[in-house]
Amino acid sequence: MPRSVTRTLRLKVRGESYPWLQAAATEVNRVYNYCNEICVHTALRTDTLRKWLTGFDLCGLTAGSSECFEHIGADTIQRICIEYAAKRTAARRLKLRWRVSRGARRSLGWIPFKAASLKRQGRSVRFCGKTFRLFEAERLEAVKWKQGCFAQDAVGDWWLCLPVEPAVEDRPAPQEAVGIDLGLKEVAVTSQGERLEAARFYRNLEQRIAQAQRRGHKRQAKRLHRKAARCRADALHKFSRRMVDRYQNIYVGDVSSLGLVKTRMAKSVLDSGWGMLRRCLQYKGEHAGRSVTVVNERHTTRACGGCGALSGPRGPDMLAVRYWRCEHCGEWHDRDVNAARNILRIGSRRRTSVSGNEPSSPALPSQASLRCEAGTSAQRSAA
Ligand SMILES: [Zn+2]
Repeated sequence: MPRSVTRTLRLKVRGESYPWLQAAATEVNRVYNYCNEICVHTALRTDTLRKWLTGFDLCGLTAGSSECFEHIGADTIQRICIEYAAKRTAARRLKLRWRVSRGARRSLGWIPFKAASLKRQGRSVRFCGKTFRLFEAERLEAVKWKQGCFAQDAVGDWWLCLPVEPAVEDRPAPQEAVGIDLGLKEVAVTSQGERLEAARFYRNLEQRIAQAQRRGHKRQAKRLHRKAARCRADALHKFSRRMVDRYQNIYVGDVSSLGLVKTRMAKSVLDSGWGMLRRCLQYKGEHAGRSVTVVNERHTTRACGGCGALSGPRGPDMLAVRYWRCEHCGEWHDRDVNAARNILRIGSRRRTSVSGNEPSSPALPSQASLRCEAGTSAQRSAA
């Protein structure tokens, strides 16, 4: 069954167009702020004209306004109205934040458009009567877009973002199931013993970022921040891709970064990107027809993977313990691999709480895991 999957193609725009894009973004902000203002006014009226304006209403109110703008056209104005109304409804607020065009708190530039207003022209694209040259323009070949936007990042570079629908292939994974334990020392450890080392992207660049900030090189500091984020994303993408290519059922611990952010481990937690890894697994798994399940990881570090006794290390003070021996059955455990195995076992037992995409034919747990499960539940009921 063909499934439709949307991914965003991001192409960097060459520098010579930045002044034009900046000017267009200022006009976008004016339209957006007009929508914001008129929506509040209409919603707060006391007479019968009081109304919660929709995107359609806003399009009607802004009709013909493209004459007042030098850069953007009617299609961009309509898209701003629709996007604004959708955002306001989603946020359930009377008013959204203003878009600021200059100063320290200015909003990052954003210029939406409809499919027809972006035209291919050789290796470049044409938009609003201007030609834009792109980096890696060959990626645009054989791509059909519906709509998109030009968006600016924190460093100030502009990107052409196009949602595209790539072809999805459905192949069953060679292996059946895996449990993944998320941690700090290693970002992720699988039940097969594979590790994703914490490369400490931010920590490594921290000194250079601090130096750039002290010297007042704001752009350089932002560039370094972006570099750290990209390195982290690259590692997480590669790891999640490997997992999705290899396993049919993926179980991830539900460790929450929000709780740990307030502790002294905050920087490491934010640097490790658990949330992003989980999101990557979820959407990649969905695209490939895998089931990705988040499992409550309570006791997974303490429980022995062999006999199920809660004999392992506990509490933040025992985080240093990497290897331990079960008091009951005498088995030696690697702390993280043991936790990942427990996550795998809990996950395959609770097949009902699936939050990802169910595979077409649910694979049965292997004989080994069944035996293991039977052993533990027997032990548990005996205890
Ligand atoms: Zn044991």
